[in-house]
Amino acid sequence: MTVHFSPSEHHKHVMSQTVPSLRYDGGDVKRWQARLRRKLRGLVGEMPTERCALRPSTLWQREHPLGSIEKLTFRAESHADVSAYLCLPKDVAPPYKVVICLQGHSTGMHNSIGVQLEDDTKPQAVEGDRDFAIQCMRRGFAALCIEQRAFGDRCEQDESLALAGQCHSAAMQALLLGRTLIGERVYDVERGIDYLATRADVDMKTIGVMGNSGGGTISMFAAALLPRLAFAMPSCYFCTFGASIMSVHHCACNFVPGLLKVAEMSDIMGLFAPKPVTIVAGRDDDIFPCKATRQAFKALRLIYNACDAGDRCRFVVGEGGHRFYADDAWPVMIKLISEL
Ligand SMILES: [Zn+2]
Repeated sequence: MTVHFSPSEHHKHVMSQTVPSLRYDGGDVKRWQARLRRKLRGLVGEMPTERCALRPSTLWQREHPLGSIEKLTFRAESHADVSAYLCLPKDVAPPYKVVICLQGHSTGMHNSIGVQLEDDTKPQAVEGDRDFAIQCMRRGFAALCIEQRAFGDRCEQDESLALAGQCHSAAMQALLLGRTLIGERVYDVERGIDYLATRADVDMKTIGVMGNSGGGTISMFAAALLPRLAFAMPSCYFCTFGASIMSVHHCACNFVPGLLKVAEMSDIMGLFAPKPVTIVAGRDDDIFPCKATRQAFKALRLIYNACDAGDRCRFVVGEGGHRFYADDAWPVMIKLISEL
């Protein structure tokens, strides 16, 4: 008799026996989306129904060769303030098209504007095309870079809790409270959109979201849950749960209780249909394997096809590992945005 001692082996077995109850299986897309979205909102956890005052406050503002950058804070909810950079492109007349830029597990959003962590007046080369806001300004978009909870400025301040790793304590505490870190991070994006709505210079119909890895995660969940987002470019996250989160070690911030009983990643991204999405993957990404991403994309395409929007759902594969691919992805995304 073969013995099975490994918990993950057992979990994979359970997964193989599990048919997600709200997978898209044909039929009316809107009706299916309404059901899954309602369910997903519940799974990612309870967030405040009453929004607190944003209290935006400017920390500094400076000119940049590609435009201007303002560092600010706004309040997402009581005792949870968000730091952000608002980057406005030079020689573009408002209202601005805005991309919300999200970094993954790294030292934080300073990467998005290509400056050092310790001194954000000093430029720094950023690897893997993670200088998202610079890319935005160069292409005439404004960018709102949001510091995600547990990263950068918003890292855990309690040293003993931080010992477990960047997100671990925050993610576990959120679960105990009936929340998830994914739900909290999506809520911050929602509040970022609230902040944009207070400005007179933003085209509220053309707000998108992008990010790599942990930034790709929230790009997908935010696209699925926030109706004011118009386009999305998640990078090096979209895959199948089986080949990524269930097979390769991933940070605790990736987990939503019970999600596999309900849907696959293609379904969650499918909640964004028929709005334009560019899925970015790395051919050699070993934590979100490209082969499985291809399979997941086929399932996503079926949902877009069912909305008569197959051409608004695009797949870009970069020739490398777990990173963003600006030169491959932007032309595809910009073409889709131009058709909005
Ligand atoms: Zn994490």
